Amino acid sequence: MVSADFIHDCSQCAALCCMAPTINKGARFPIDKPACTACPNLMEGGLCQIHAEREDLGYLGCVDFTCFGAGQKTTQEMFGGRSWQDDPRLQEPMARAFLDLFRVQESRWLLQTAAFMGIPPEKEEERRAMLANMEPPAEGWTLEALDATLDRQPPDGVRAWLRSLAGGMPVPPGH
Ligand code: SF4
Repeated sequence: MVSADFIHDCSQCAALCCMAPTINKGARFPIDKPACTACPNLMEGGLCQIHAEREDLGYLGCVDFTCFGAGQKTTQEMFGGRSWQDDPRLQEPMARAFLDLFRVQESRWLLQTAAFMGIPPEKEEERRAMLANMEPPAEGWTLEALDATLDRQPPDGVRAWLRSLAGGMPVPPGH
């Protein structure tokens, strides 16, 4: 069973997915938005003014998005519960940390999910080693621990390994 560690908790997050990523107008979004800028629908306090109408208004990319828990971990563990909405100096570092931790959490989720794909023993050893390289610190994530994890186990390497498996790779929700 995949860990509850990957369930997002928006109540503990500074609305990071509404600010950090680039949004491209298309089938899943009706607007363009550069990275590290607030969505025009985001209100003070991290609330979305079109939350109940997102599907009708074409924000399908928001409806099924998950950050794999990166949002609340970035906000609470790395920034002590603070928000870039209260302190604009945090906007850039919070966006960067969130996007990096998102890639780590997504990779960890993919590796845990791969355990159910019936992979051969030598690949299973590699899977466990990569997962161990991305283990969250016992005391919670810090910016330093995140940088060290990205150096030790780049998420692109995880994706390449998953593609090398016969039968393809698991597809994360929202992708
Ligand atoms: S980044 Fe994650 S936890 Fe934060 S608001 Fe978005 S989905 Fe929720």
